[in-house]
Amino acid sequence: MIPFNKPYLTGKEAHYLYQAVYSGHISGNGNYTKKCHLFFEERWGFKKTLLTTSCTDALEMCALLLNVKNTDEVIVPSFTFVSSALAFERQGAKIIFADSRKDHPGIDETKIEALITPKTKAIVVVHYAGVAVDMDIIMEIAKKHNIYVIEDAAQAIDSYYKGRPLGSIGHFGTFSFHETKNIQCGEGGLLAINDDTFINRAEIIWEKGTNRAEFFRGEANKYGWKDTGSSFLPSELNASFLYAQLENINDIQNKRKEIWLAYYNNLKLLEDKGLIKLPFIPDYASNNGHMFYIILNDINQRSLFINYMGGHNIKCVFHYLSLHQSDYYLKKNELRHLEKSDYYSDCLVRLPLYYELNNLKIFEIIESFFKNFL
Ligand SMILES: *Cc1c(COP(=O)(O)O)cnc(C)c1O
Repeated sequence: MIPFNKPYLTGKEAHYLYQAVYSGHISGNGNYTKKCHLFFEERWGFKKTLLTTSCTDALEMCALLLNVKNTDEVIVPSFTFVSSALAFERQGAKIIFADSRKDHPGIDETKIEALITPKTKAIVVVHYAGVAVDMDIIMEIAKKHNIYVIEDAAQAIDSYYKGRPLGSIGHFGTFSFHETKNIQCGEGGLLAINDDTFINRAEIIWEKGTNRAEFFRGEANKYGWKDTGSSFLPSELNASFLYAQLENINDIQNKRKEIWLAYYNNLKLLEDKGLIKLPFIPDYASNNGHMFYIILNDINQRSLFINYMGGHNIKCVFHYLSLHQSDYYLKKNELRHLEKSDYYSDCLVRLPLYYELNNLKIFEIIESFFKNFL
């Protein structure tokens, strides 16, 4: 069986975990958390980073930092994971779903302005498959209408827009280290704060509404309840595991990009014949090898494909179901028509992609396409 995903291990995770366990500091914001923060800030130039227990948590922190409330609207692509919308919805905001582009699943930037009202507080953009959306245009729209931009960069570690790291361009960037992502620690996330004015408050919200971080740096002589917040910080166990992965990031990224290219080059012929569509990467975007997907003709063909591949012991999966069509959203909102989001919902399928996938296995996967299915 070729699984869809297999979490990668560098071999050092258990060693660093052991060190964290016996260091005497196992709760959050210890040595390994600081090492991770420093790594992110030095490598990608984020102004301030805070490890979180998930990308969902990092998005929730954004909602709290922006004081999102029930009179606000937040624009979110419909073709994304639930959390991109949920974090704002649970603060009471009305979610206004946006459609995807024709040529890739990212938000269609030409359709954003029509969704803006005086109530619009923020736009969440998702760099789907680690491929950048057109950030210059989005930041310009946001500036013009005085709204905030959150980059859901859950899939976009070490990927770039015109050379700038994703997650560093909007007011906030959020990352995921869930075991299905390029760099993982089981469950984990990161908030990147790119606007100085939020840094102080972010630290407080991160640690249960207290100024504990400031206190431990010796910048305050006591600490107490200062603001809203929650327990957003992960323990040193997660941070130590994550650090082992970060140390190997170049190797991980190179390997994933190599696998991605092997798929692309081998399947190009099928695209040229008009049988399938392959991922499109705009020239302003880079590829971080997070995901390889193909687009088939319709939902029936896709079901047949997934069954066919499964029959050959190759696990392929689809996602996402358009959020604007979800039961939860439709309980409170009227049905809208977002054509491209539904198109990707019906036709997109993801192929196995993980570090250990070698050329032989990729060949096996590709062969089962050529031989019979299409
Ligand atoms: C994985 C993912 C998330 C959620 O990440 P968690 O760390 O599991 O909370 C959010 N948004 C997108 C686009 C994702 O791919």
